[in-house]
Amino acid sequence: MDKSKRTFLTVAGLGSVGVYLGVKGAYVHANKIPKVNKRYAMVINTKLLTSDVMAAAMAACHRDHNVPHISNPNCDHPPPEKQSVKWIWEETFDAAFPEQVHHMPKVAKRPVLVLCNHCDEPPCVRVCPTQATWKRKEDGIVAIDMHRCIGCRYCIAACPYGSRSFNFKDPRRYLKYVEASYPTRTHGVVEKCDFCVERLAHGQKPACVEACERLGSKALIFGALEKENLAEETSEVGKALQNNFSLRRKPGLGTGPEVYYIL
Ligand code: SF4
Repeated sequence: MDKSKRTFLTVAGLGSVGVYLGVKGAYVHANKIPKVNKRYAMVINTKLLTSDVMAAAMAACHRDHNVPHISNPNCDHPPPEKQSVKWIWEETFDAAFPEQVHHMPKVAKRPVLVLCNHCDEPPCVRVCPTQATWKRKEDGIVAIDMHRCIGCRYCIAACPYGSRSFNFKDPRRYLKYVEASYPTRTHGVVEKCDFCVERLAHGQKPACVEACERLGSKALIFGALEKENLAEETSEVGKALQNNFSLRRKPGLGTGPEVYYIL
């Protein structure tokens, strides 16, 4: 990361923390986060994440959403981290779960898929000065309107999971194929996973889930949680959580991720 970007993010991050703590006189206003009854959730069974399944899920997501493949020469990590714009990607368990790995050293290097967690208390939403990102009242999805994004990147500084990407370059120049049913973006805006709101509107599952199912895999399960008490859930995601030990990323931060990992 170059010095100017690091300085910007440091300043933005401090500003975000200020907003998050409710400091009066901060230069952006903390947005309200609605409480929702129904919220969409994803369960990722890490025991079923083969390389084929992960590759299919990532490719389907990025193809369907016109996510550009942009090489990031300043990144120290090997591919696919070098790709500077991403919605879903592969990490090792120890990188994704730094607090929990000490209790589970045997799975430290197990690959996991990571994406936006569609948090119940999303800090990214609180800091957005234009409300270009918000939590949907009807289903808890943390949506993003790239047309309203002014590229301030406060949300990137506020997200503790690195789930958001910034288009430092014109992404359209890096698309080998354009999916006509989904909008392309421009230079200077932030993007991330939106749980495929456009597919959900037509009764379809998210593209990554469908790609796994096409391979006969149940590594990714998607659906709605609607009860306060998990034991009362009857949905497929609810049953999966009742019957398996699962974790969420960085639980101590209180963001309430809606992406769960079975180990
Ligand atoms: Fe926001 Fe990050 Fe949570 Fe997604 S994972 S809702 S971008 S804080």
